[in-house]
Amino acid sequence: MSQHTILIVEDEASFVEALQIGLTREGFGVEVATDGVRALELFAQLQPDLVLLDVMLPRLSGIDVCRQIRRTSTVPIIMITAKSSEIDTVVGLEVGADDYVTKPYRVRELVARIRALLRRTAMDTTGELDRPHGSTIRVGEVALDPDEHRVTVAGADVSLPLKELEVLHLLIANAGRVLTRETLIDRVWGDDYVGDTKTLDVHIKRLRSKIEVDPASPQRIVTIRGLGYKFERPAVSTAS
Ligand code: CA
Repeated sequence: MSQHTILIVEDEASFVEALQIGLTREGFGVEVATDGVRALELFAQLQPDLVLLDVMLPRLSGIDVCRQIRRTSTVPIIMITAKSSEIDTVVGLEVGADDYVTKPYRVRELVARIRALLRRTAMDTTGELDRPHGSTIRVGEVALDPDEHRVTVAGADVSLPLKELEVLHLLIANAGRVLTRETLIDRVWGDDYVGDTKTLDVHIKRLRSKIEVDPASPQRIVTIRGLGYKFERPAVSTAS
């Protein structure tokens, strides 16, 4: 097997050093970028086999780096977060990472995940590991095209204001997964969210009135009590 090159993007010297030693010992080729801008430069230059990407970086965040890479590449990306609360944000953002680890992590565990991802990529000759950025997302009868801001339910166009579309986009891109209220609010409104905790609920209610068969008994956007909301994946009812 030829040597795999891993691009480490990390600004903390102690982590960089431990990774360099650990991954080199495992037979990987290792390159290091210590800020987000340099990461993109090195990525373009080296075309590494996998990227280890810290979330908190100088100049350009790991989230932005991940998004930029995903515009052109399906390279496996493992995000490294400093605290588990960041994972929720990273996952909610749908930045396109393949896996996540939280500091402090064991290099041995990380290597196992790296190998698993590289194996998966090697098997995936059709390149369907990641759908191209910006393509239509379809879950059951609901389809959303983020580029065209177009939503259809059972083939019929549904007109949604921007914020409703953004809420739906986040939910549908993470179908089957619970998104906390905090994640939804943070991603869709960020600092613009003005105190009123009802804003999100109002948007969910309006969305339901447009995309649910029976808005009084929602089957698509379901409430997870005390947590947030989830876009339900439809049960497979017919054999295919
Ligand atoms: Ca950092």
